[in-house]
Amino acid sequence: MQTVKGTEEQARDMAGEAYLQQLRRTFEQLPNDVPLLLFVDKGSDDVFAQATRQVIRAFRELSPRITLKEYNLNHELARRYQVGSSPTLLVAPGKYDIRWLGAPMGEEARTFLEILILVGLGKSNLSEASAKVIRRIDAARRVKVFVSPTCPYCPQQAVNAVKAAIELPERVSLEIIDIQCEPELANQYSAQSVPQTFANDILIGQGAQSEEVFALSLQKLEPQTLFIPESDAEQVETDLLIVGGGPAGLAAGIYAVRSGLKAAIVERQALGGQVATTPIVENYPGFTSVGGKTLVDILVSHALQYVPIFPGEGVLDVQHGSPIVVQTSRRKFFTKTVLLATGASHRPLNVPGESRLAGRGVSYCSTCDGPLFKGKQVVMVGGGNSAVTEALHLFHMGVKVTLIHRRDTLRAQEVLVRQLGDNQIPVLWNTEIREIRGEERVREIALFNNATRQSSVLPTEGVFIAIGYEPAVELARQMGIDLTADGYIKQDGRHRTSRPGIYSAGDVEGGYKQIVTASGQGAEAAMTIFEDLINPYWLRKN
Ligand code: NAP
Repeated sequence: MQTVKGTEEQARDMAGEAYLQQLRRTFEQLPNDVPLLLFVDKGSDDVFAQATRQVIRAFRELSPRITLKEYNLNHELARRYQVGSSPTLLVAPGKYDIRWLGAPMGEEARTFLEILILVGLGKSNLSEASAKVIRRIDAARRVKVFVSPTCPYCPQQAVNAVKAAIELPERVSLEIIDIQCEPELANQYSAQSVPQTFANDILIGQGAQSEEVFALSLQKLEPQTLFIPESDAEQVETDLLIVGGGPAGLAAGIYAVRSGLKAAIVERQALGGQVATTPIVENYPGFTSVGGKTLVDILVSHALQYVPIFPGEGVLDVQHGSPIVVQTSRRKFFTKTVLLATGASHRPLNVPGESRLAGRGVSYCSTCDGPLFKGKQVVMVGGGNSAVTEALHLFHMGVKVTLIHRRDTLRAQEVLVRQLGDNQIPVLWNTEIREIRGEERVREIALFNNATRQSSVLPTEGVFIAIGYEPAVELARQMGIDLTADGYIKQDGRHRTSRPGIYSAGDVEGGYKQIVTASGQGAEAAMTIFEDLINPYWLRKN
């Protein structure tokens, strides 16, 4: 036993020595000096200040490039750099605005090492995709990353921020704040869990983000969950171009590429379609309960492993031929086939006041706008799954919601209707909204009871509308594709439309309009397209 332990220790020592030598070599090659300025309150024998000195001493042994100067908090330089707490460490001030409040101990030593190397190199080492996003930032970003020495996820996030501060020093300043040393500041920002990242005092990241997602969150000043690489290509050749990035389009992309087709997805609005704004999904197999946006992120991340996605890109024109030429707002696609998975858009009530007050109290998205109505009185119009799900969501958010339905029974699923009763959400039955009134904002609605035939007025601050969807068929119409009497895309049972080479899937075909059915239809359509491309009877037929 003794011999084995001895050998292990020897091996560890050797590994440690090899690591140190490697580190020394790295530091020897650094082209830039790394001046460190440590500000401490000399009056108090602060453990954090002591620890900072120790860590710096260890790193300074590795390279003469690292220098340290120490000042008291009442030194003129502290005023110049606006340093107010002890210990504060400034890294290469003048060149960068990177400061550390606390001591780079424990897990944080990893971050500190990375800072020294990147500052010494004078390079951010961001990926090209992240650097592109950071360079798009056109105004100041004051970043604060709250960390703790015992948090193994913190270095990833802190290093993301360091890289941004090095890439764009004229706009990005950074404070890495140790919550153990700065509990009051952490409290002020409610940073009870780490890492937590703020930019210009806006929370942009909870937990560690990937470098690209961090860059995007910093640029947009709001937390992002996905990063989709941008493409500069002016022309793209595909076997299949999928129009629409909802469940049908995403599933089709996965199936198409897995069968060997070259595919791409274009989406003019939000990826995920209606699911993205659905508060909670409880009937997608495999998930007992999942937020709509979370489910979309999972679907999009999965699809991205196979198929390129071009978000924010609407189709402007389609020229039939071989290949079919699709002009989007950004580029041209030359493709053998097109799948229309354009979904459906919300149905308007079509009453006076609705369009004038849209965005000023009239809303079609409770997940987006609900938080603005916390504690306020609103109505939700509709009697289907959407209206009931969203009324429940508003209720749980603390909004005082009343459901208004034009009949005396709901068409929503029993399980949802029961929850409505359990939470005592009031329902106005047999009631139609005749007008939405208000000058600057919604103030009241004019109602008509179609059972008693009485009219009334109800004061309200918000009108949420969830009365179903209308298929998004403008593009299909433009392309001369046959529609059904109900206005959906007509297809042959295998998702072939009336035009050769053009297919459809999902809500735009009508049917059950569930996430799981739309996904299934997307998969079916991709398989039909694959079969048609290897046996192009259908493509030749018309
Ligand atoms: P929906 O099921 O078509 O229900 C629309 C509701 O709005 C109906 O109650 C309808 O009343 C009412 N309505 C329609 N036009 C109206 C008007 N002009 N004025 C007043 N009320 C009007 O629509 P949805 O609830 O948006 O759901 C769409 C599809 O998505 C459905 O297939 C639904 O099952 C599905 N969905 C599923 C889930 C889920 O399973 N998690 C969640 C949301 C949606 P009538 O009843 O009188 O026709």
